[in-house]
Amino acid sequence: MMMNEPRAFAGLRGTLSRDAPLARHTTWRAGGRADMLYVPADRDDLAQFVRELPPATPLTVLGLGSNVLVRDGGIRGAVVLLHNPGAALAVADSLVYADAGVASPKLARFAAMHGCAEAAFLAGIPGTVGGALAMNAGCYGGETWRRVARVETLGRDGAFRVRTAADYAIGYRSVMRRDGAPLGEIFTAAWFRFPPGDMATARAEIKSLLARRIATQPLALPNAGSVFRNPPGDYAARLIESCALKGFAIGGARVSELHANFIVNPTRAARAADIERLIAHVRSVVRARTGVELVPEVRILGEAA
Ligand SMILES: Cc1cc2nc3c(=O)[nH]c(=O)nc-3n(C[C@H](O)[C@H](O)[C@H](O)COP(=O)(O)OP(=O)(O)OC[C@H]3O[C@@H](n4cnc5c(N)ncnc54)[C@H](O)[C@@H]3O)c2cc1C
Repeated sequence: MMMNEPRAFAGLRGTLSRDAPLARHTTWRAGGRADMLYVPADRDDLAQFVRELPPATPLTVLGLGSNVLVRDGGIRGAVVLLHNPGAALAVADSLVYADAGVASPKLARFAAMHGCAEAAFLAGIPGTVGGALAMNAGCYGGETWRRVARVETLGRDGAFRVRTAADYAIGYRSVMRRDGAPLGEIFTAAWFRFPPGDMATARAEIKSLLARRIATQPLALPNAGSVFRNPPGDYAARLIESCALKGFAIGGARVSELHANFIVNPTRAARAADIERLIAHVRSVVRARTGVELVPEVRILGEAA
């Protein structure tokens, strides 16, 4: 459904809004607005939107916003939201196909139902398949790209391409193009190769993994998961806790009492600037007391207010 849009975007089937609040599209429930927010109807509609977007207009993709901090001044240009509860999942030729807009926990459950092993780790990652591909999301020994047979991408030229892991430099929570450049393309779908397993075992694994998360993570409060990457051979949470930073707050943002590598927004009153200042404070205290430079895992997007 289109509203008051110039002819350039006529004929699109998705939803376009201007000056759109993004806080509701991020799990931190904080941050500014997008100049333009587009929720495509499907992959072809997304391709048409991208083709019609002037090449100089910046384009940002968001899935479930579970790994981003959008600054209070918002994001210039267009933001595409690729989270679609009706997105496709299928099994074909022993591969599991998922649209990028599928939620990762849904992929984990689907894979379990189809007798796949080693997909359970995705059950605890509350983002989309597209976000898991972009971040090489992982936990408990599992990692997204270890299971990818191929992906489909959409370039700024509006063309779809099929790529494999060989096209990327893939690391811990990091996926770049082979030449080290940023991705520059949108992931629109992926085909996963999971080893065969037992349905009941996979479902039990998901259940116990979720129980472990509920016990150790502040899931009832707005958060964005682990704020910092784990430094080699250590844990960011252990370092932050050793600096007595649990419960430390700036404005509406607070270091979680339950998990020191989480920052929570308990009353939804935090500004993105509060969260960003708290991130900087934690980094500087940990650096001063332990000598370790923590590196944020969350992606900070947009402009300060
Ligand atoms: C409670 C909680 C627990 C978490 N636990 C884990 C964990 O165990 N392991 C882990 O790795 N992460 C974890 N996360 C972080 C987060 O869920 C993952 O990084 C997730 O994969 C992000 O997916 P998303 O759809 O929310 O991406 P977003 O946050 O929307 O985007 C993240 C980045 O990916 C890019 N992106 C998103 N979709 C696409 C696409 N289709 N094409 C190209 N780029 C895209 C965005 O531009 C952005 O740079 C956790 C988060 C929360 C809130």
